[in-house]
Amino acid sequence: MFNSTELERYNRQIMLFGEEGQSKLKQATVLVAGLGGLGSPIAIYLAAAGIGKLKIVDFDNVDITNLNRQVLHYEKDITRMKVVSGQEKLQQLNPNIEIERVVTRIDENNIKSITEGIDVIVDAMDNYDTRFVLNSATVSKRIPLIHGAVSGLDGQVTTIIPGKSPCLKCLFTSTPPKEVFPILGTTAGIIGTIQANEVIKYITGKGELLVGQLLLWDGSSNGFEKISIMPNTNCDVCGHLHEE
Ligand SMILES: [Zn+2]
Repeated sequence: MFNSTELERYNRQIMLFGEEGQSKLKQATVLVAGLGGLGSPIAIYLAAAGIGKLKIVDFDNVDITNLNRQVLHYEKDITRMKVVSGQEKLQQLNPNIEIERVVTRIDENNIKSITEGIDVIVDAMDNYDTRFVLNSATVSKRIPLIHGAVSGLDGQVTTIIPGKSPCLKCLFTSTPPKEVFPILGTTAGIIGTIQANEVIKYITGKGELLVGQLLLWDGSSNGFEKISIMPNTNCDVCGHLHEE
């Protein structure tokens, strides 16, 4: 399964998961939806951990206003497509993994093909319209979704397993307005890293997931809080999975 270089590369993880766990990571295909502030740390840590295939999706080009937080992209990448800039760095970090890049704005029409063959979806979006598209695919195809969102110094993470946990529509019924919001790079780094951690735990079966729990991060006071969240049996997306 692994050549000698890979065994060396993943040595410190194999101490945790065994070769069996590492091979689960190698066999996994993970969708990173968005390659900005959250998508950067998510993709970096998943590539470093040896996820066998990453599908990276973003329609946008790198802009100078991205660089305070989108650590996959450098000044030389301004005007380049984020997926091209991202693939370059990720492949330099770990040439043993496969990266598929998709340049598109995720919507109801393309989500079915984008999620084909995907084991875990990671929500690295910056708007709820697209998050709800990911959420619908998660419920209809029963693919786990690792949700993360950030603003300013605050962030949140939850892991959605359809049928076991509430979906995004159980939690947020309306769509917050799309606007330019303040964001510190470290907030996206912390939340994105927790999302990558959830992906790795889900795939290897190690540890406890944030299923039925919303983790809230307050970067101003260094506070983490976990609140229990329940499915809404009247949810128009996942309610049918929670009927008695
Ligand atoms: Zn729901």
